[in-house]
Amino acid sequence: MNIEATLKNYDLSKLKVVTIASHSSLQILRGAKRLGLGTVAVAKPGSGWFYRRFTFIDKVIEVDLGSMEQLAGDLVKDNSILIPHGSYVEYVGWRRALNMPIPTFGNRYIIEWEADQRKKMKLLEYAGIPIPKSFNDPTQVDRPVIVKLSGAKGGRGYFIAKDANELVSKLSSINVGDDYIIQEYVIGVPAYYHYFGSKVYGRVELFGMDLRYESNVDGRSFNLAEPTFVVVGNIPVVLRESLLPIVQKYGEGFSRAVAELVPPGMIGPYSLESIIRDDLSIIVFEFSGRIVAGTNVYMGIGSPYSVLYFDKPMDMGERIAHEIVNSVKRGKLIDILT
Ligand code: AMP
Repeated sequence: MNIEATLKNYDLSKLKVVTIASHSSLQILRGAKRLGLGTVAVAKPGSGWFYRRFTFIDKVIEVDLGSMEQLAGDLVKDNSILIPHGSYVEYVGWRRALNMPIPTFGNRYIIEWEADQRKKMKLLEYAGIPIPKSFNDPTQVDRPVIVKLSGAKGGRGYFIAKDANELVSKLSSINVGDDYIIQEYVIGVPAYYHYFGSKVYGRVELFGMDLRYESNVDGRSFNLAEPTFVVVGNIPVVLRESLLPIVQKYGEGFSRAVAELVPPGMIGPYSLESIIRDDLSIIVFEFSGRIVAGTNVYMGIGSPYSVLYFDKPMDMGERIAHEIVNSVKRGKLIDILT
């Protein structure tokens, strides 16, 4: 879509933030309202009632997301900016999200890279970030591995094998033609970093971090069940300060790589997901080019790192709204939309 032409018809004093009612929408909409923006939640049929409980949401539209494109026309007339998140991409699919006719906060083109496990790892590698070793031939595997089926979501559809024999036997039970990658299973503790790529301030902010609470790896399974990584929640975490420079370096390296390979570069929230080994090396196995649900742990209280930039606690919803409001003030709203 032609964002420039669309924005010409926008009344910037009546901007609205719209998002799909799920994932991190409460945080996004609360932040937008606090900074004086209008707020709209688009809810799947049957789920709007919950979002109507909250006074910071001006309007809840209940609609089948199969007709999101039709709704987009009305939203544009209403001066809306869409904030994408994981559930939005999951519900409408990345192809439709790429073409959704509504100004979208951040770089929507990154979701195409996110959707493909191989492209995803290539982008991380290009950024100079250490990634787990990959194996093409199962018989060459010489260490524990994790197998990721293409299209697996939230850790569902992954399995672990401790060696080549177990891997070959487990692979024989998946469907012929299924696409998957075989990746070294990195031993250590997980840590997921939240960054914010700011056009307004021309910097990458290390904004927060979290841990995932995953069933059954975090459950009371007592070795009675196979490990599964279905995310059920998130837990806040801070790292030892001596690790922060490397985390910042990875965040900036990723931003530079995206600027080169996926113009117009990284805008707004993004995340790198890592395992930290016992030698304190950090291996990144995944990224998200938009807000992650792990930022919800700081909703309303702000992340500990946010005070380093703003001298007051801020959550990611407020940070997004701050960027929108300040881009408008500088006449640069177009720079943060695709
Ligand atoms: P993902 O859906 O890619 O975020 O992965 C789900 C979970 O699998 C992560 O939260 C990690 O706990 C685990 N995981 C994924 N890849 C690796 C890896 N290469 N080594 C160790 N754990 C991993």
